[in-house]
Amino acid sequence: MKKIAVLALQGAFIEHEQRLQQLGAETFEIRQLDDWNHPKDGLILPGGESTTMIKLLHDLNLFFPIRDAILGGLPVYGTCAGLILLAKEVEEEPADRLATMDVTVKRNAYGRQLGSFHTVASVKGIGDIPMTFIRAPYINKVGNNVDILSIVNGHIVAAQQENQLVTSFHPELDSEVSVHQYFLDMI
Ligand code: GLN
Repeated sequence: MKKIAVLALQGAFIEHEQRLQQLGAETFEIRQLDDWNHPKDGLILPGGESTTMIKLLHDLNLFFPIRDAILGGLPVYGTCAGLILLAKEVEEEPADRLATMDVTVKRNAYGRQLGSFHTVASVKGIGDIPMTFIRAPYINKVGNNVDILSIVNGHIVAAQQENQLVTSFHPELDSEVSVHQYFLDMI
């Protein structure tokens, strides 16, 4: 059985655990450094507030162990704030992030009025799925080694670079399991 670590410092992590369990995976929460030492096949970085998560990752000494594991090939799926944590660059933001994925991201990219919205759109390798965006970022630029998986309104909202999968939207909030299945298939 695949064992997935879910970062549970803040944000929407419970819904990820539910989706993964629906698909037959085992999950456990990362709340402190001790939790990180359990064996794992993958990692979820949930949505929430990226600045808060980065601060907590440093305070709890989780930042570098997690970064090293991702660089070492641990499969990781980041949603929304999780995407921001993984991005090498974020427009108009300091560089303090895990920064393992070769993408440039715009934070809170949809502005105030379009801060949250819902649509149905296609993801490469999956098909049409519901997408919920909550004060979401989108990807502006990708490196050569990044595969673009979905574009909505001209903006990249899902991408993969080898062991790293990211979405701007929250499939876990729509009871949608296909992106989580895609992630489990990456393992
Ligand atoms: N706006 C949040 C941030 O910048 C991300 C929102 C989310 O994860 N739903 O960190």
